[in-house]
Amino acid sequence: SNIVVAIDGYSSCGKSTLAKALAKQLHFIYVDSGAMYRAVTLYLLRKNIDLKDPAAVEAVLPEVHLNFHARDYQTHILLNDEEVSDEIRLMPVSENVSAVAAIRSVRHEMVKQQQRMGRSKNIVMDGRDIGTTVFPNAQVKLFMTADPKVRAERRFKELQPNNPDITLEEVFENLAHRDYLDTTRAESPLIRAEDAIILDNTNLTPEQQLQFALDKVEP
Ligand code: C5P
Repeated sequence: SNIVVAIDGYSSCGKSTLAKALAKQLHFIYVDSGAMYRAVTLYLLRKNIDLKDPAAVEAVLPEVHLNFHARDYQTHILLNDEEVSDEIRLMPVSENVSAVAAIRSVRHEMVKQQQRMGRSKNIVMDGRDIGTTVFPNAQVKLFMTADPKVRAERRFKELQPNNPDITLEEVFENLAHRDYLDTTRAESPLIRAEDAIILDNTNLTPEQQLQFALDKVEP
């Protein structure tokens, strides 16, 4: 049957960098589950939906249609046929996505769609609950972590070119805030699956991380 590699961990731990490299090497499909929560959040913000009102959020969920376009193992996500890959990385979405991801109806819908994607194809999926909730039977599970300061610096360097006004402090606060909400929410909080292998990449190059992961997939 098909193979699923689940990569979970805190915000900006390099999950997507590793997941993309791994998918490319193995010729698997890469699925960025965080992009889905971000795209839903963008839709809600555009519609001015009150994010603190779960019933209001649930009511508009059927209007949200998400699709991925795979190109060079980069994520291109379409929200109702509009490419939103860049817009979902901006601060308004980053600041609200974890609140949206805590809403039950949102999680249920995303998990359902994610499970459908992994039903017949070999995939690498990264997120927060992939090894625990989405694919508890995934063949390989990694749990990524890194020093919070290192994570903030990496993300800051990534965001700075397109967000010249952003500060390192702001990025650090956003990561800490999202980690807090993600680990404390009621519905499938971020937690390491018992059988997930920890990968602390504070001092590892992308190449070393890829080799580590490949060794787990093909022992
Ligand atoms: O992976 P990324 O940082 O883009 O995800 C954005 C947010 O989406 C996370 O901070 C988390 O709140 C939420 N998320 C989640 N479950 C996933 C993936 C992302 O709750 N599987």
